[in-house]
Amino acid sequence: MDSIRHIAHHVRPIPKSGIRDFFEVVQTMSDVISLGIGEPDFDTPWHIREAAIYSLEKGHTGYTSNLGQPALRAAIAKYVEEHFHVGYDPHTEIIVTIGVSQAIDSALRAILNPGDEVLYHEPCYVSYNPSVTLCHGVPVAVPTRAEDNFRVTAEAIAAKITPRSRALMLNFPTNPTGGTQTREELEKIAALCIRHDLVVLSDEIYSELTYDGAEHFSIAAMPGMRERTVFLHGFSKAFAMTGFRIGYACAPAPLTDAMMKIHQYGILCASTTSQEAAQEALENGAPAVASMRRKYEARRNYIVRAFNDMGLDCLKPLGAFYSFPSIKSTGLSSKEFSLQLLKSKKVAVVPGSAFGESGEGFVRASYSTSLSEIKVAMKRIAEFCKEIGAK
Ligand code: PLP
Repeated sequence: MDSIRHIAHHVRPIPKSGIRDFFEVVQTMSDVISLGIGEPDFDTPWHIREAAIYSLEKGHTGYTSNLGQPALRAAIAKYVEEHFHVGYDPHTEIIVTIGVSQAIDSALRAILNPGDEVLYHEPCYVSYNPSVTLCHGVPVAVPTRAEDNFRVTAEAIAAKITPRSRALMLNFPTNPTGGTQTREELEKIAALCIRHDLVVLSDEIYSELTYDGAEHFSIAAMPGMRERTVFLHGFSKAFAMTGFRIGYACAPAPLTDAMMKIHQYGILCASTTSQEAAQEALENGAPAVASMRRKYEARRNYIVRAFNDMGLDCLKPLGAFYSFPSIKSTGLSSKEFSLQLLKSKKVAVVPGSAFGESGEGFVRASYSTSLSEIKVAMKRIAEFCKEIGAK
């Protein structure tokens, strides 16, 4: 039977993630050093795991309030106010989700009517484009360039605005480039959003991981923005809690209410165990985050120097845990480079094209791998570049 005809029209054309395809190949090989992963190599700090264990020991195994446990929401409100300088009411403006992934989906489903356009800067996290399509929206990429430090400008966004534009997705520090944003440019972007009545989905998942003293600003805290921003954050990256699947969205009450309907009927609530672990992370996790950040920074310094030394131009990322070197000097496409490197040297990086068209000519090499492994990987990549005669 032709079961494809049973699949919804808007779901059929969505390609599988380029990362997943590539890692299916990686999984068939042994002894690969992976710079491909998008998650911390650190175990979740012990005190956070302990909080999860205690939660189970105490028999906290039922549903929680749909919005999330009140104590966790109070902790989130305090954390967001202290770190991002924007206040949310824990009773009506915060919803605990299954990672930022679910928060993005709920936010898009809450705001989009079919055919609405959603702008996002590219290269970007692989889920943005398909998430918009899955919500019957139209994804509109705003390309950025290495020459501009992959910084999106208000001018570039303005050039893509049409009468159907409804929302803008922002992600600083950015996956996959590690790019950040200046306060001045963010202010211009905020003014643009107000002028065109855009809702902003601000994905701040890497905000704790900034380097060289780079300050993180949230657009939600800028004048006139709180009322039109869905602030998205989670525990996966800074607290090394990817498997706990826990995050949150903060937004004005009417928006939270709309997301809540979707969450209530589709999800019910986030895992109780993970919620209690998350509360511990917010209340006592700062020293562990600082320690992991220092390690990432040392690895970043090493990896960026090594890429530039071997002739692959690489900007120094100011945040997240990704480097994004240019492989244009090799004459290979990003897919060819990644596949050949994997086969000949057993090092996995992600082709830049997985992050959108403007990622072509680059690869993503994550430094969420131990420094000793990174050193071996960089030696192998340098040998590979020499062997293929990169200019
Ligand atoms: N947003 C960005 C920019 C990401 O890079 C990722 C994961 O890699 C996510 C969201 C998903 O995060 P979570 O684990 O909280 O669902």
